[in-house]
Amino acid sequence: MTTLPPIPHSRPTLGEQDCAAVAAAVASGQLAQGPRVAEFEQAMAARLGVPGGVAVSSGTAALHLALLALGVGAGDEVIVPSYACAALLHAVRATGALPCPADVDPATFDLDPDAAKRACSARTRALIAVHAFGLPADLGALAGVGVPVVEDAAQALGARYGGRPVGGLGRVGVLSFYATKLMTTGEGGMLVSGDAALLAAARDLREYDQKPDDRPRFNYKLTEPAAALGLAQLARLDGFLARRQAIAARYRQGLAGAVLEPPRVPPGRTHVYHRYVVKGRAPAEPRLRALEARGVQARRPVFRPLHRYLGLAPEAFPGTEEAWARAVSLPIYPSLRPEEVDRVLAAAAETAG
Ligand SMILES: *Cc1c(COP(=O)(O)O)cnc(C)c1O
Repeated sequence: MTTLPPIPHSRPTLGEQDCAAVAAAVASGQLAQGPRVAEFEQAMAARLGVPGGVAVSSGTAALHLALLALGVGAGDEVIVPSYACAALLHAVRATGALPCPADVDPATFDLDPDAAKRACSARTRALIAVHAFGLPADLGALAGVGVPVVEDAAQALGARYGGRPVGGLGRVGVLSFYATKLMTTGEGGMLVSGDAALLAAARDLREYDQKPDDRPRFNYKLTEPAAALGLAQLARLDGFLARRQAIAARYRQGLAGAVLEPPRVPPGRTHVYHRYVVKGRAPAEPRLRALEARGVQARRPVFRPLHRYLGLAPEAFPGTEEAWARAVSLPIYPSLRPEEVDRVLAAAAETAG
């Protein structure tokens, strides 16, 4: 048993630059969407190599607007990975469309392209490809499904597929800047695209004021202090990612020989380790309690698979069921200190099996 303070599962990386940037935004007197939001959109689009971005109040809002801008609505179907964040379910439902979960590959936790093809019907209007835990999905094979791809890069900002940054590779990409993500604005999100008409549609739907008609629109705007924080965090993103890579390398080395399986990274893809998800042979729950008792807050990386929310037969989603039963997410973030990394490894080794 340890008397050291517990190691949290997540912790944002915040410094004086962040405080100064937010303070300057507040002091400017312009709090609602303004020039800092525009600057944040341009900086992020440049970073991802796409022509433009639309900043919004959350990743869920970005998903919602991306689907609406693609023309998704009532009577349509949208393919989603079954082992994913419930935000996908809510965003699809909010458009009136039906979410259709497809199984994931339990080795990479990413959408299985064959399962996605099988989930496709005449009503399918889009597919949401999540880059799970920071590993790019198999975009080449998913393009073969034949429907527009929404890249959910909420966990994968900075990851590369075939050498190119994810987020800008599908019809539209979605980012989240929630407090636990790779960089944060507290709450926030963005959609990025090379499609000017799609960006214009999302920009129109983001706010309700001074419109020529009464079609449904939203208030999904990001604030100036949030955008200022986003710019300050984006300037340090490469350092954040390098620190995550170093911790992941240490975990991989430290877990060698243990029966806990480290994340698999197929050739041609880079992993940014938003989460460090390991899989044992034994179930996740007792392992989580054992880690907690040793002062390490680990989590199931997905609260509940999406097919279970929808009441679909678990047997149809064997990859997801395997991941959900056995996968555990260990703490990984730039401010995790080397001695904390060692404590996580020691605790994980004691629970191996
Ligand atoms: C966090 C997350 C979202 C939702 O983003 P919010 O900003 O929390 O609304 C969507 N998809 C994935 C994969 C996420 O990790």
